[in-house]
Amino acid sequence: MGKTQKYIFVTGGVLSGVGKGITAASIGAILQAKGAHVSIQKCDPYLNVDAGLLNPREHGECFVTKDGAETDLDLGHYERFLDIELTQKNATLSGRLLSNLIADERAGKFNGQTIQLVPHLTGAIKDAIQDAANGSDIHIVEVGGTVGDYEGLSFVEAIRDFASRVGRENCFYVHVVYVPFIQTSKEFKSKPAQNALNDLRGFGIVPDCVVVRTEDPAPGDIAAKIARFSGVAEDAVILLANAHTVYEVPLTVYASGIGPVLERFTGNTKKPDLTKWRDLAEAQETRFPQTVKVGMVAKYLDNEDTYISVLEALKAAAWQEKVNLDLRWIDAEDVVNDDLSSVDAVLVPGGFGKRGIEGKIQAATYALEHKKPYLGLCLGLQVAVIASARRSGLSDANSTEFEPDAKHNVVYIMEGQQGKESTGGTLRLGDYNAVLTKGSKVAEAYGATKTVERHRHRYEVNQKFTKAIEAGGLTISGTSPDGKLVEYVEGAHHPYFVATQAHPEFKSRPSRPHPLFVGLIRAAKQGV
Ligand code: GLN
Repeated sequence: MGKTQKYIFVTGGVLSGVGKGITAASIGAILQAKGAHVSIQKCDPYLNVDAGLLNPREHGECFVTKDGAETDLDLGHYERFLDIELTQKNATLSGRLLSNLIADERAGKFNGQTIQLVPHLTGAIKDAIQDAANGSDIHIVEVGGTVGDYEGLSFVEAIRDFASRVGRENCFYVHVVYVPFIQTSKEFKSKPAQNALNDLRGFGIVPDCVVVRTEDPAPGDIAAKIARFSGVAEDAVILLANAHTVYEVPLTVYASGIGPVLERFTGNTKKPDLTKWRDLAEAQETRFPQTVKVGMVAKYLDNEDTYISVLEALKAAAWQEKVNLDLRWIDAEDVVNDDLSSVDAVLVPGGFGKRGIEGKIQAATYALEHKKPYLGLCLGLQVAVIASARRSGLSDANSTEFEPDAKHNVVYIMEGQQGKESTGGTLRLGDYNAVLTKGSKVAEAYGATKTVERHRHRYEVNQKFTKAIEAGGLTISGTSPDGKLVEYVEGAHHPYFVATQAHPEFKSRPSRPHPLFVGLIRAAKQGV
């Protein structure tokens, strides 16, 4: 007999960007800590088909799943919090659903019906939710944006109507609202939150739980007031002030009293084992005797979200190695050797386009020549290869991404990828296997000679130039199983110069940092 699947819907009111994703992931983490099998999904009302072409400055990192979905960075939070690997199904954008719907209409699959947002788009949303729930005990669905946004209406209607599909008792609606503190009058103002709850009710959803986000802890009468005006039980109005650190949120959500409310819904009365979160929160707060400075050579300096998985991977490695991480941003468009010499390690993350590229090549050259620990991620491998080839005498070596007619195109476009430079969904995406050279630095770091990592790139190392690349100080230490694609390079006589064509940051976990990041921090630590 199949078990009854439960669904938790997380919506937002007042403002977006107040931690709805982290709240959703934290609720999931608490339920997991009670032994439940949890799955999670993000619904984004954008008309984009995926997040691949969205501007990272505005939207933050594009997270990549193992099956190659290019998604919103919330999926990264979900993976890190729940330690699960998500897929295309866990990221649902209206653009994709609409384009499928229109394709079906064109293919004549609707037998003359009129195609409408309700029931056709809402039906597709409900199917996508049920599909993503995929056998879990509890499936969490976060709806992007705030309730009332014009483009999100179909999602709100779909999650409301979902209750008639699976039973209202199997659905739990959480509304995350924001309560501002007015400095001049020194009071918390709950009116915008009340209005947001009215909006939600206007769409037919009376929530089972309201999470009230505030900057500083709010007094209990705020919860009472919100409860009174929203028809939600007072103990189901959860006050959630800013946490010190992100991995403390499962602890603060639990401490704020969500336990009994979730118990009523799930029937699971087990006390959650939150040890993992306590350990993480403690590690985050600990000041260690030693600090390592890592220089991040990047071009988006004004939005940390752009590199969030890389930062989380670095932090996790630093906790494991028991050092403080002092992250220094180095502007790729303005790299000076003094900045590079003043850090203990250099990291060049992934990126697209020509801007800042010479600075990144300079950083790789410097690290190679000065035995500075270096980790190159995707583009960070490509610039290392260019740097090495230039050092061996090919002074005009380049990637055709930046110099389309480069004579010494040591990085070039893959077969089958020509002409698709600005097209969505056409990169080499998701998990690919690699084999590593026995005894190499990377094999040592991984403790294995076979790896599977996520990818998101279009250009490849041109093995016609292997000799020149190796003459400049690098060794190719990992390739695709057929040897056709270069996956890893490393400094031949270097304490730790490692670069990968993949994005290992996506597989790093707060309690299980990725070995290549651990390797970097360890090498940096030894050099301090
Ligand atoms: N722009 C490079 C490519 O497409 C690197 C991509 C990346 O760093 N993710 O191959």
